[in-house]
Amino acid sequence: MTSLEQTLRRTLKGEVLFDRAARGRYSTDASIYQIEPVGIVIPRDETDLALALDVARDAKAALLPRGAGTSQCGQTVGAALIVDFSKYMRNVVGFDKDRAEVTVQPGVVLDQLNAWLRPHGLWYPVDVSTSAQCTLGGMAGNNSCGSRSIRYGNMVHNVAAMDVILADGTRARFDSKRPEDMQPAVRVIADKVAALAFAERDEIERMFPKVLRRVAGYNLDIFFPQSERPYTTDNSVNLAHLLVGSEGTLAVTERLTLKLSPLPKAKTLGVVNFASFYKAMESAQHIVKLKRWLAPIPPSGR
Ligand SMILES: Cc1cc2nc3c(=O)[nH]c(=O)nc-3n(C[C@H](O)[C@H](O)[C@H](O)COP(=O)(O)OP(=O)(O)OC[C@H]3O[C@@H](n4cnc5c(N)ncnc54)[C@H](O)[C@@H]3O)c2cc1C
Repeated sequence: MTSLEQTLRRTLKGEVLFDRAARGRYSTDASIYQIEPVGIVIPRDETDLALALDVARDAKAALLPRGAGTSQCGQTVGAALIVDFSKYMRNVVGFDKDRAEVTVQPGVVLDQLNAWLRPHGLWYPVDVSTSAQCTLGGMAGNNSCGSRSIRYGNMVHNVAAMDVILADGTRARFDSKRPEDMQPAVRVIADKVAALAFAERDEIERMFPKVLRRVAGYNLDIFFPQSERPYTTDNSVNLAHLLVGSEGTLAVTERLTLKLSPLPKAKTLGVVNFASFYKAMESAQHIVKLKRWLAPIPPSGR
């Protein structure tokens, strides 16, 4: 038994898996890659999570957060200590119906959340096709999008705040606070990121693709969004949006506060027949041009 495993076993209430079978299972995800991890930690709660990160930091072990592992580019396999949020850290921890916001632990599964919200007439509208498996932590990690993203936006447009643990163990809240109201550790990061983003503003404007979902690199454009759809509706800067799409490389997410939408009052299904595949694909550009997101969604539904 390695000293990392020993210390984790001594310290945590949750599960510590270092056997070959477990490492074999966690060496795969929905991608084509296979890499055997050092070991796996399944934290019971937030205290356990913080302790696991402390142990990993002391041992200089690389960390890899994992939700459902349904990413397709190898994001959740690696020669690292895997932290699996999907088993225990799946609670709804706060709900504000008037603000239409919910706070969840990262292992909450999208379908689970939407079943919880349904009696309140609300839903989380980033409707990813793996909704029965994907976790909110993983969705934020890779800036997931859904089949209705043109209407509602993707993750970066629907996350209000993220409570995270930074590499040095500091607990921090990333949200839309003004710099003067930020926690000192967050202010230091915000100032550094702003200095970098403004120094490179021309390059960012020139090089960042003007698309709705961008996940190839950090959202350094939070101060002057290059996304087709602005990240916030009032042009404010929300530092949580820097973490969305960062694939767990900037911080480990402990909680997410999400912006909810009213459940549609009615749903209609239209079926259109096209003469050819080409004609069907060609029609998409006209649908996209309708820019339905420009119309605000009324609080009582559509
Ligand atoms: C058949 C199929 C269909 C799909 N359809 C879609 C689709 O419609 N839209 C779409 O966007 N994607 C789609 N995907 C990709 C994937 O399912 C989604 O992106 C899903 O939302 C990822 O969630 P997850 O819980 O599996 O995340 P994971 O794959 O487990 O993790 C995603 C990233 O987030 C990081 N992460 C996880 N938890 C945390 C945490 N607590 N703190 C910090 N970082 C964390 C991970 O390290 C990783 O980088 C599809 C995949 C498949 C196989």
